[in-house]
Amino acid sequence: MRQKIIVGNWKMHGTLADAHSYVKTLLPYLQSIEGKRVLLAVPFTALSRMAEWCSGSSVELGVQNIFDQEKGPFTGEISAFMAQDAGARFTLIGHSERRKIFHETDEWIHRKVVRALSCLQPIVCVGETLEERDTGKANEVIRKQIIGALHGLSMQEACRIILAYEPVWAIGTGMNATAEIANAMHKHCRSVIWELFSEEVSNKVHILYGGSVKPDNMESFVHQESIDGVLVGGASLDPSQFIQMIRHI
Ligand code: PEP
Repeated sequence: MRQKIIVGNWKMHGTLADAHSYVKTLLPYLQSIEGKRVLLAVPFTALSRMAEWCSGSSVELGVQNIFDQEKGPFTGEISAFMAQDAGARFTLIGHSERRKIFHETDEWIHRKVVRALSCLQPIVCVGETLEERDTGKANEVIRKQIIGALHGLSMQEACRIILAYEPVWAIGTGMNATAEIANAMHKHCRSVIWELFSEEVSNKVHILYGGSVKPDNMESFVHQESIDGVLVGGASLDPSQFIQMIRHI
C-alpha cells in the first residue's frame, strides 16, 4: 500500500504575515492526522520562517523550483542545496507553468531531477495540453516527458521520485479531468515507469493527480486505485479548504 500524499502549491502568493496566519490555522488540525503526508511548496521568501513555524509538526516544506547547478554565477537562481539549507525537503520540478513560461525542456528538467536527488525529494510534473489530448497524442507526450525526466536514474533513485500527472488544460482553469481519465493516465504513467525501470519500481512510485482539485471534487480522484494523492494549487491557498482536502485524502 502506498501512503496517500497531498501537496499544496502556493505558487507566487503570500506575504510572511499570510504564511504565518495559514500555519496557525493548519498546524493544530495536523496533530490529529496520521498516515498521510502533507506537503507545502511555498515561495522561497517564506521558506525559512515557515521551517521555524512548522518545526515539530508533520508538515513537510518544499520549493516550487530549483536551478540545475549547485552554486555559481547564476543570478536570481536557487540551488537544491540552498533550498534544503533553508528548510526544504522536496522540490517541484517541471511544473507546466515553468515549462510554458520559462521554456523548461525535458533535458533541463532531467538535470534538475539529478541535482535535486542529492538532497531533496523531486516531485516531477508531467501533463499534456488540450490540443495534444484532442489530437490523440496525450499518451505519447506523457511517455516522452517521463522518459526525458527520469532516464538514467538508478532503481533506488527512481523509487524516491513522486510523479504528478497534471493535464495542462486542467491547471487553474476549473476544468478537471474525470476521475476515469485521470486513473487511465496514471496507469499509463506506471506502465512507462515499468518500461524504464521495473515492475517493482512502478509499484513503488507515488503518482499524484493535479488540476483544479477542490474539496468538492477530490474524493472522486483519491478513490481511484492508481492515484496516490493530489497536487493542489489555487485551493491550497485557503487553509480551511486545504484542511478539508487533507481530511478526505
Ligand atoms: C498546480 O499548481 O499544480 C495546480 C494543479 O493548480 P490548480 O489546482 O490551481 O489547478
